Amino acid sequence: DKGTSPGSISAQGLSGALDEAKAKAVLADYGVPVNRGAVAPDAAAAGRAAARLKAPFVVKVVSPDIVHKSDAGGVALNLGDAQAVEAAVAEMASRLAASHPKAAIEGYLVQEMVSGELEMFVGARRDPLFGPVVMVGAGGVLVELLKDVAVRLAPVSPAEAREMLLGLRVAPLLKGFRGSAPLDLDALADSVSRVSWLAHDLGDRFGELDVNPVLVGKAGQGCTGVDARLLMN
Ligand code: ADP
Ligand code: MG
Repeated sequence: DKGTSPGSISAQGLSGALDEAKAKAVLADYGVPVNRGAVAPDAAAAGRAAARLKAPFVVKVVSPDIVHKSDAGGVALNLGDAQAVEAAVAEMASRLAASHPKAAIEGYLVQEMVSGELEMFVGARRDPLFGPVVMVGAGGVLVELLKDVAVRLAPVSPAEAREMLLGLRVAPLLKGFRGSAPLDLDALADSVSRVSWLAHDLGDRFGELDVNPVLVGKAGQGCTGVDARLLMN
């Protein structure tokens, strides 16, 4: 029993590549926890946006031409106050103008910094034969290196998502390993199920969805997607 969809979405109005802020809005509609943020056009506006959020902050460049933001120097972490946010955006803007002169910069995403014990990857793809599949594995920069991924046809229930997680090589870390605290496996399984329903519901035009990383807290502390990208055909 797969249960029922936790959200309702129309693929109408969603097209092309959705950036982090737009992809997170779609995830939030499906009850996937994501951190709060706002896109600002310049440094001064970024400082004002920070004033409406909770410190510490993170700033990220928003550009259709920069997909791997940290590789391009487009991510600044652990900014203590609005002034630090303003300075980080000014510095990032001048650095990117030199290193990526052709990139169209749409703005700067100011968001809340999240703490977690483990970075995981949750995603979905459209298999030409089988339709939407959901994926979960060790995340962050280790995705390609570890190739520790579980894949299933979407949608999956939270119980099925839990089985996916328990088959991973990082499972001991999620369950608690040699005195390390167990992590919030249930919250992560819930998010995997919600992402699988989202991919299923988006239908034929769904391309791919990456939530990387999802930061997983200790048991009871939940998990949060802090980066996301959604491609529609
Ligand atoms: P990209 O994948 O495009 O390089 P990310 O948005 O994933 O950029 O940021 C790079 C890394 O920075 C993440 O893998 C994560 O370790 C860290 N990070 C990004 N946003 C946050 C946040 N809001 N809170 C904590 N860590 C973050
Ligand atoms: Mg990322």
